[in-house]
Amino acid sequence: MTKKMAVLGAGESGVGAAILAQKKGFEVFVSDKGKIDEKYKKVLSQFEIRFEEGHHTEKLILEADEIIKSPGIPDKAAIILKAVEDKIPVISEIEFAGRFTTGKKICITGSNGKTTTTLLIYHLLKNAGFDVGLGGNIGKSFAWLVAEEAHDYWVLEISSFQLDGMFDFKADIAVLLNITPDHLDRYNNDFDKYADSKFRIIQNQTAADAFIYWMDDPVIAEGIKKFNPKARLFPFSINQNMNRQGAYLIEDKTDFLKSKLCIKINNEMMDMTLQDLALRGKHNVYNSAAAAISGRLVEIRKESIKQSLATFQGVEHRLEFVAKVRGVEYINDSKATNVNSTWYALEEATRPVIWIAGGQDKGNDYTVLLPLVKAKVKAIICLGVDNEKIHKAFLPYIPLILDADSAEEAVQIAYKIAEKDEIVLLSPTCASFDLFKNYEDRGNQFKKAVFNL
Ligand code: ADP
Repeated sequence: MTKKMAVLGAGESGVGAAILAQKKGFEVFVSDKGKIDEKYKKVLSQFEIRFEEGHHTEKLILEADEIIKSPGIPDKAAIILKAVEDKIPVISEIEFAGRFTTGKKICITGSNGKTTTTLLIYHLLKNAGFDVGLGGNIGKSFAWLVAEEAHDYWVLEISSFQLDGMFDFKADIAVLLNITPDHLDRYNNDFDKYADSKFRIIQNQTAADAFIYWMDDPVIAEGIKKFNPKARLFPFSINQNMNRQGAYLIEDKTDFLKSKLCIKINNEMMDMTLQDLALRGKHNVYNSAAAAISGRLVEIRKESIKQSLATFQGVEHRLEFVAKVRGVEYINDSKATNVNSTWYALEEATRPVIWIAGGQDKGNDYTVLLPLVKAKVKAIICLGVDNEKIHKAFLPYIPLILDADSAEEAVQIAYKIAEKDEIVLLSPTCASFDLFKNYEDRGNQFKKAVFNL
């Protein structure tokens, strides 16, 4: 009998999964509780895939042999609870797609830096002439890609929500960048659960596979004890530690940028100075290190890796330089939607900062930012519907905290108070959905306002 697949959610991942399932001969039914985007409806009709929107018809969903759940749907959703009760396997689209490709999979996860590192690794492989596809939590969904293309290598960004629905999937190279609090609302405010979920990136790995991770992250160190990885280990760190495989830093005490990033794989060395990396900031040293290790593991030549890391064009909305207006630099870090990413943005600043922050709070604890804010921030402009928490956290220390309810207003205020050689930094630490469509919309409106100055 034909196997029945129900796909819940009809966005990028759900529609991709539905196309792949249809192509592989399954009987497919797609159900979305909300409205389906017109462009996706068109695709579903084109492939003659049955779908519904605005509600879930339980009977049709629960008669499936397997359910593919989009990452946006929480495990607590009524329909998922019912499926679990009926013992119907609920998987993610990445798990499903993984069944239909033989390409080697380089998978990147972490709380911050996923997109940057994924694009860096893709850039390395592409530049070296590899046959490689890019997707996952970025661009096209993995299932959609697998339905349409075949590649020797896949570079995939994977979120914790996607990992939660992964069981037999195996990454040939797994990259775990860091684990800091984010999305805790989806994990019953249980940080351990969130951390465990990130560690699914190494499940099913064998001694023939590789695990690349940030060595100085205490949460990752705990996880390694708990999950005992079977893969070969390639840690990266900015501390000097030369007796191991992976990446480390030989620091230049007078000029940090002259420090050397060293990569040691199978006792072969390569190094490059930080000033030759295209991406600035300590966090990007980590991202570049993880990318370089991946590159060496698939045997890209050292010269090619160096050239690619030196020429990589940054990623929009991540510490993106926008313009210099009357001696003031404007920086768009709209993708900084948690405390940790803003920490790196502030740490990188070498001049006084007018900090534009705020939005939809995901349970932020601002105290970790206090030392940096006290040392570097001259004024805060809150850009959110509810700014009380930021006022409360910083009022005793920062004399000037103002409110804005549009990106344009925030930029106008910043323009008035910023003096020559200062920095205006949009690094919100919060989600954007209170005032904007998404973080791209927030970043674009910010940039537009800067260009209009
Ligand atoms: P993700 O895809 O995990 O959200 P991005 O590459 O989009 O990560 O970056 C998100 C934010 O985090 C940006 O503000 C960026 O500057 C910052 N960031 C990038 N890499 C790291 C890292 N390794 N550690 C901490 N913050 C980072």
